[in-house]
Amino acid sequence: MEMQRPRGTADLLPGQVEDWQRLEAIVTKILSAANYQEIRTPIFEHTELFERGVGDTTDIVSKEMYTFEDRGQRSVTLRPEGTAGVVRAYVENKLYGTGTVSKLFYYGPMFRYEKPQKGRFRQFHQYGAEVLGSEKPAIDAEVISLSLRILVGIGLKNLTVELNSVGCSVCRPVHRALMVERLTPHKDELCQDCQNRLEKNPLRLFDCKNDRCQAILRDADVPYIVDVLCDDCRTHFDAVQRYLKVMDVPFRLEKGLVRGLDYYTRTAWEITSPGFTTIAAGGRYNGLVEEIGGPPTPGIGFAGGIERALWVLGEQGGTLRSSERLDAFVAVADEGGEGTAMVVLETLRGRGIRADRDYQGRSLKSQFKLADRLQARYVVVIGESELQSGKATVKNLDDGEQREIPFPQLADEIEQGIR
Ligand SMILES: [Zn+2]
Ligand SMILES: [Zn+2]
Repeated sequence: MEMQRPRGTADLLPGQVEDWQRLEAIVTKILSAANYQEIRTPIFEHTELFERGVGDTTDIVSKEMYTFEDRGQRSVTLRPEGTAGVVRAYVENKLYGTGTVSKLFYYGPMFRYEKPQKGRFRQFHQYGAEVLGSEKPAIDAEVISLSLRILVGIGLKNLTVELNSVGCSVCRPVHRALMVERLTPHKDELCQDCQNRLEKNPLRLFDCKNDRCQAILRDADVPYIVDVLCDDCRTHFDAVQRYLKVMDVPFRLEKGLVRGLDYYTRTAWEITSPGFTTIAAGGRYNGLVEEIGGPPTPGIGFAGGIERALWVLGEQGGTLRSSERLDAFVAVADEGGEGTAMVVLETLRGRGIRADRDYQGRSLKSQFKLADRLQARYVVVIGESELQSGKATVKNLDDGEQREIPFPQLADEIEQGIR
């Protein structure tokens, strides 16, 4: 029987890996410019971390985790998302002791047992950022701006930031009580999920895709949480929007946007593009650090799906492959050119010029064909006659121009030509 990869996983082959490297380079560049630092945490953690840090009423924890007992009978779980591990590391390593705001980012594989579909895998990959130690609305604006800037940097189009505030431990219980009061008489008319939500987490009724549930919500005249915020939350949310406006970050208020858990507070956002599901999402979580055993510390962060971003990019006709071409192809005209060709390759590569040659004994003509296929900018021909004249024959494949360049100037000329 032929071995196959597990369902919901993918092999990244040469040609695809380069897209991932470029995407990661864009994320790193944009976040480093804002003074974020990379953090790497384990791919598996104690199961309890996710039960507490993601919430055991969520679909992720109740239905989708890869949980198993290790050989020491400890329950461990392949991480289904990145935030819980980062916050655990922040607490365990006492990063809060630095007295400054921690600005962190990460990449890596995440695991969820879901039905695989377009852009959705069981081993999928995310990049994300977390800021711990500030509740200033300015940091919300910074993080939202960065989450959008990354997608723009990748080349995605028609992006919308959908923004909302989900309140805090002061205003949410009031709203929750109101929801329970107005919806309990209609409980039997709600879908099964919403009946459960009404008990555990009424705010998530706004998330229901069922039209009947949404109609019941409207008829019961249940206000959106953002319309009944406490004064502190109102002031905070107004400031976030004011900063986004002066920073020229476009956004749209989306009052039905919610985050399920109690420690999610205030700002919540998702970035979408018409015809696609959410590409990146984020939120403030002022209760999470405490939930995981640290001192009360406000936090905010976002995550984006790498497979999803690349899929949307492809669907929109974009590509990250601008720099994939070869700078120089060294063609060996005859046996006499072999040694010098290797010296020239070493010299070019030593300068960071992307250079290659044929190692299969092709004729000169088919070496040119290969250079074409590799999208080489220059073909450098080296053979007996070039050695005698002391000059390489260099053809620019973009404009067809051919020149003789003395060997000592070869690397300089090519370097200038490609910059
Ligand atoms: Zn509040
Ligand atoms: Zn429902």
